Amino acid sequence: AGTPRGVVPPGPAKAGPGRADFTTHPGYRQVAVARSAAAALDLANPFFRETGAVEGTRVRIGDRWIENFSGYDYLSINGDPRLAAAVGTAVAEFGVSARASRLVGGDLSLHRKLETGLARFLGTEAALATVSGHATNLAAIRTLTGPGDVVLVDSFAHNSVFEGLRASGADHVSVPHNDCAWLEDWLSRNRERYDRVLIVVEGLYSMDGDIPDLAALVRIKERFEAWLMVDEAHSVGVLGATGRGICEEAGIAPGRVDLLMGTLSKTFCSCGGFLAGSEAVIEILRHTAPGFVYSVGLSVPNTAAALTALEILEAEPERVARLLARSVRFLDRAKAAGLDCGLGQGYAVVPLIVGDSLKATLASNKVFEDGVQAFPIIAPAVPNQKARLRFFINADHSEAAIDAAVASAAARIREVGGASF
Ligand code: PMP
Repeated sequence: AGTPRGVVPPGPAKAGPGRADFTTHPGYRQVAVARSAAAALDLANPFFRETGAVEGTRVRIGDRWIENFSGYDYLSINGDPRLAAAVGTAVAEFGVSARASRLVGGDLSLHRKLETGLARFLGTEAALATVSGHATNLAAIRTLTGPGDVVLVDSFAHNSVFEGLRASGADHVSVPHNDCAWLEDWLSRNRERYDRVLIVVEGLYSMDGDIPDLAALVRIKERFEAWLMVDEAHSVGVLGATGRGICEEAGIAPGRVDLLMGTLSKTFCSCGGFLAGSEAVIEILRHTAPGFVYSVGLSVPNTAAALTALEILEAEPERVARLLARSVRFLDRAKAAGLDCGLGQGYAVVPLIVGDSLKATLASNKVFEDGVQAFPIIAPAVPNQKARLRFFINADHSEAAIDAAVASAAARIREVGGASF
């Protein structure tokens, strides 16, 4: 009958009571340890806060309205009645679900319209819309690279990039954050050892709020015949005079970047991801990327919402300018208050470094008491001495709300003995 595939060679017996008990799993233990440490310190857990209604930049939590600095709705499009109307119309026409993989019956005209719109907006030949931003990175990287290739990833890149890399089997090189000289030096010594080389960076780093030197990266990737992929999850709608992202910001033609990846969950107020690039690369991904081919098409409400958000962004570029003005105001006020804003450059994501995971959590709980929601980013997501409160700015945050949030953060970070003071 032949040897079944997937059979592992015999090895020593792994003894131990409760092997099938989930409470012995390292993941369960890790959560339990964190819980008991928080309880011993009488520290309320800020994570998974149950949230009620949303109204502009405020959210209802318990019986209070809280000014929210943790939402990705950078251009404040989420509550726009045009989104709700478009979703209603689309559901009436197509139903809710795409009902199948795009490949086999789930390829709706609405999907095509979104993809054409994304490609036109970003200035690429083609685009592909997928059901999850996280799965998009995973699928793209593992589809395009494999054993014999190398993926050079900025050390601050998102978890989904590293997951894709693990699945690909390519060699992994971690590039010190935004260090193009290091990258160029490594490639000059090692390029010839590999077939394909993929460089992955983000357009706007989501924990630090800084951007890469795209012109330098393009020059390097052209010199070494490498591919450059940019995760634009946080930069589309944010960077560039009209929100077209890092290429517009840097004055680089989009065709010089091999693959743009983004999510529909941030500026586009929906859920899902997208890839944009040449006809050739999108052809490969459309027909072979496992997270696309073997997954259902994007749901109808999510497609309609993203398409409408895109139309609003194109028609109302003043939202982008407003977001930038608000972000710069936040950064300037925070610096004037003596806060350490890390690498923040005033582009929608502003970290306020507290410098210790426990203190960052305490500070987050205290600003919440003041009616401000900004979550702590703690170890291991960032080094403990770089633990921080992260603020996402939205175009509709009022100047008063920004000033009040900065005042609260400054007072509370000082109160917990944070690094800035
Ligand atoms: N890339 C980056 C840089 C992200 O920050 C995120 C999520 N915040 C993703 C990819 C995954 O996107 P999604 O949440 O839409 O799955």
